[in-house]
Amino acid sequence: MKDNCFNEFDPNALDIEEALTRILKSVVKKKNTELIPLKKTYGRVLAENIKSNQDIPNYKNSAMDGYAVNIGATNINNEYTFKCVGESFAGHPFNKNVKINEAVKVMTGGMVPKSCNAVVMKELVKNMNDKIVVNTSIFKNQNIRFPGEDIKKNNTVLLKGKLLDDVDLGILASLGRAEVLVYSKPTIGFFSTGDELVSINRLIKKSQVYDSNRYLLHGLLQKYPIKIKDFGVVRDKLKLVEKKLELASSKCDLLLTTGGVSVGDADFIKNALEKLGNVNFWKIAVKPGRPLAFGKIKKCFFFGLPGNPVSVVVTFNLFVIAAIRKLTGQKNSAPLRLTAKLESDIKKRKGRKEYKRGILTIKSGDLFVKSSGAQGSNILSSLKDANCYIELAEYIEKIKEGESVKVIPFALFSEHYE
Ligand code: AMP
Ligand code: MG
Repeated sequence: MKDNCFNEFDPNALDIEEALTRILKSVVKKKNTELIPLKKTYGRVLAENIKSNQDIPNYKNSAMDGYAVNIGATNINNEYTFKCVGESFAGHPFNKNVKINEAVKVMTGGMVPKSCNAVVMKELVKNMNDKIVVNTSIFKNQNIRFPGEDIKKNNTVLLKGKLLDDVDLGILASLGRAEVLVYSKPTIGFFSTGDELVSINRLIKKSQVYDSNRYLLHGLLQKYPIKIKDFGVVRDKLKLVEKKLELASSKCDLLLTTGGVSVGDADFIKNALEKLGNVNFWKIAVKPGRPLAFGKIKKCFFFGLPGNPVSVVVTFNLFVIAAIRKLTGQKNSAPLRLTAKLESDIKKRKGRKEYKRGILTIKSGDLFVKSSGAQGSNILSSLKDANCYIELAEYIEKIKEGESVKVIPFALFSEHYE
């Protein structure tokens, strides 16, 4: 069969799983690491296993404002009287012995004296001079936080390869870590190709378009622990494309281009990649985004993404993220897929897996999805309004309203609150 992008069934086009396998096999993580202050670690990838050097909390303490009591071994009915012998505030422990039927006023986080075996909340206590009376049952260990109940000494708390988030920063601080070893940021660069492209600060003529892909990519790359390099625009001339590819790839760990990767007379990316490096694959059975070149130029991994903006986003989500995660030292996992009922018929041609842009809603606990509008790969507004992809398998031709489809939500909480 002719090597082109015309047929829906293209024997040379890889399916998504095969393409992903090849990407993950090819890309290797950047091994350089750096020791940085805890505050700077948000969004960075951990390059060491974090083992706890202590129990957290490291002392028995109160979960309530109230009284730490020593109720002895036996219970007395439902009424207790304790002699109040002191106070234990957070950071100011009571260090003397507390005998049976004695109590110590305690604040949340305050150390519970060794011999005390329960904390009674303030609201359940009657104060009488130096005594307190409790009229409810007291259970042993109630309202006491024990050493190590959050994190045990010597346990591994965070694994190498974890993308550090807000909770991780809190955990690392609770372990007293002032500096943390993380992977260094790889450099990811990009440029656009196309004679029709104009930079955003210039006036545009009919027949020209603003170079939106570079800004799209700039946005898409923001949330990764990487250095971003923008190499501008290149005109549709093989020599110029080659020159730019050579220069940019020498400065990056991963390079992305958009446009010029198909089979048109002005599409030079694949030929240039063949000349300067090697092509791992260049077509995948996915819509949007079939022409997609993946390969390597010297040490730099390379994706030639399609030119249409929606295809850029879809192929970025499906393939580039996996490569970035691997490069930055993270593991990859499959996206969350949910099942939803279609709210209107959807047309599709057999042969390629398709990612339509959808709007997912919950009604009485059930998930429903509809198309977010015109689905052309040039129509970026279909993504603006979408909160999920509707994932349709290769063999599907048409699906009717009411049938179940798979959806991939963009974020877990996509419902709006008024
Ligand atoms: P190509 O893959 O180069 O044939 O481009 C496919 C379509 O995407 C054409 O309509 C291009 O004008 C458009 N396109 C390519 N690159 C960009 C870009 N950087 N910004 C906006 N549209 C683009
Ligand atoms: Mg082009």
